[in-house]
Amino acid sequence: MTSECLFCRIVAKELPSTVVYETEEILAFRDINPQAPTHVVVIPKAHYPDVASLAEADPALAGAVLAAAAAVARQEGVAESGYRLVFNTGPDAGQSVFHVHCHVLGGRSIAWPPG
Ligand code: 5GP
Ligand code: ZN
Repeated sequence: MTSECLFCRIVAKELPSTVVYETEEILAFRDINPQAPTHVVVIPKAHYPDVASLAEADPALAGAVLAAAAAVARQEGVAESGYRLVFNTGPDAGQSVFHVHCHVLGGRSIAWPPG
């Protein structure tokens, strides 16, 4: 927990969020600036700056984030229609919050590769 980290503050409930899924180690909440009809952010409650550091330090927790993302997709009703999981990592990917998070995007056709 770092008090300057936005997502740590959301975990601590110091800042509000719309939580859609929660376990002892995982929190999932709606993105404040949704890019698709379903746009949920799934995070470990423990602070790691990005997916690489999470996977290296705690692969089981990294797996739990993926399992939670799949559970969120089912819960949101996009498991059948399909969805995209995104871990933006570093400047070229446009990562803006340095607490690892998995975007769950669905509910519309998401073209790939992006234009
Ligand atoms: P990144 O660009 O780092 O991959 O994603 C950060 C995401 O966090 C963005 O999609 C942004 O809209 C979202 N975000 C930023 N601040 C907040 C906030 O205070 N609450 C919520 N729910 N999402 C936020
Ligand atoms: Zn954090």
